[in-house]
Amino acid sequence: MNHNLFATLAERMRSRGNADFITTRDGRGYRYAQALETSARLAGALVALGVTPGDRIAVQVDKSPEAILLYLACLRMGGVYLPLNTGYTSEEIRYFLGDAEPALFVCQPDNLDDARRVAADSGCPQVASLGTRGDGTLMEEAARATPFETIESRDTDDLAAILYTSGTTGRSKGAMLTHRNLGSNAEALMEAWHFSDTDRLIHALPIFHTHGLFVACNVVMMAGASMLFLPKFDVDVIIEELPRGTTMMGVPTFYTRLLQDERLTPELTANMRLFTSGSAPLTAETHQAFEQRTGHAILERYGMTETNMNTSNPYHGERIAGTVGMPLPGVEIRITERETHRPLPQGEIGMLEVRGPNVFIGYWRMPEKTREELLEDGFFVTGDLAMIDERGYVHIVGRDKDLVISGGYNVYPKEVEQIIDELDEVVESAVIGVPHPDFGEGVTAVVVPRPEARLDEARVLDALAGRLAKYKQPKRVFFVDHLPRNTMGKVQKNQLRQQYQDTYR
Ligand code: ATP
Ligand code: MG
Repeated sequence: MNHNLFATLAERMRSRGNADFITTRDGRGYRYAQALETSARLAGALVALGVTPGDRIAVQVDKSPEAILLYLACLRMGGVYLPLNTGYTSEEIRYFLGDAEPALFVCQPDNLDDARRVAADSGCPQVASLGTRGDGTLMEEAARATPFETIESRDTDDLAAILYTSGTTGRSKGAMLTHRNLGSNAEALMEAWHFSDTDRLIHALPIFHTHGLFVACNVVMMAGASMLFLPKFDVDVIIEELPRGTTMMGVPTFYTRLLQDERLTPELTANMRLFTSGSAPLTAETHQAFEQRTGHAILERYGMTETNMNTSNPYHGERIAGTVGMPLPGVEIRITERETHRPLPQGEIGMLEVRGPNVFIGYWRMPEKTREELLEDGFFVTGDLAMIDERGYVHIVGRDKDLVISGGYNVYPKEVEQIIDELDEVVESAVIGVPHPDFGEGVTAVVVPRPEARLDEARVLDALAGRLAKYKQPKRVFFVDHLPRNTMGKVQKNQLRQQYQDTYR
């Protein structure tokens, strides 16, 4: 049996014939039959460019339907898809090409000269370009190529993709994902979220990250649904499109920004059946505000590059604000003591570990890091701290690396942030630990006040005084206009720690 993920997707896609697959606002796009045909041509182009099964194909291109067809082409001919953040500079690309040793680098058309230079320096033999309007040398090659009509035979554990992590806690690591990893997760999510061929997904996420690429696109293809491809999140465009969509997958900032717009109403979202959120924590406040405004309870789920999606709030049943729900079918979760990996009693906070067909097989060319984080019994140490409540809902408390240890006591930033965020004058906050001569680390709050608010350090500290044990209270409070975030809406606490590192010295 061929375990190539594309074999499963193609069967589903074929059955959809001329139904819409991807559409764009400027009237471009692909129907399913067309998408299969073009992806066969693109697979032919890859073969013509010398790519063989198992080779990596590094791709740094702007979002377009063709980029998804390239991903399919790559699966089809047995290649390993390796998308790269469009924000990476040539210097960063040099590192990734050197590390991944791809057989081909696909870049943006206006970047071709630079890409050729970087590729030559890193020993990458081929470069092609792919634009957002069906242009680029790769499409020209595809037009000439003999379509690759078969589906290369792959085993469950063969690589389908290498995805680099977001680099929130350090240098990005290449997560090796297999055909089984991606296939099992797409199937689990399609069922958990009731996706069908009548769905139309509003897709405003980037496609170089697991959320916009695998969660969104694999689920859509698995269900034979359609999606509207938007280059980025633009509130005006989303407001215009919501009446024509049935689902949207978002990061928390999508929802906070929609909430700032008065046009967001129950009527506007009446055609929508599901809003999901992930990649960063959705605050209970945002969840509740969105439900009050629209009648929709956002479904929050939790996952990561290395594991695809692990948990989800229920489709039917209570979606509890501030939790990420329960393990998806086939996924096991345990909460352990950080040092020993021994499971902790229910209700205690510890390291979240996960095992299942969704979990990657290791970090590309990092055997030691792989051994540290992928345990012998198959559990992966996520680096996230969490607690499971009596009803089985998982609460993510924060990242292990963001835990503040002050005077020997553990301080969970989220607990402090939640109380600061309750103040009327506060938009949001980030609590970090920075070096402190007496306490090891000093709890430090970085606060975004509301535009007209009159807020000072004393007022924040007063508000916390009666509510938090002394050791959890920030020693200093700083005010900023906004928190540093990456494209996935993740707060860059590393940057904050650096910025405030000399506070107590
Ligand atoms: P790196 O591993 O390079 O430091 P990263 O962990 O941010 O970067 P990703 O794989 O993109 O890279 O993100 C996964 C992380 O995102 C999870 O480990 C978790 O900390 C966070 N995350 C994802 N979904 C949620 C959620 N619903 N609630 C809270 N955190 C979430
Ligand atoms: Mg990570």
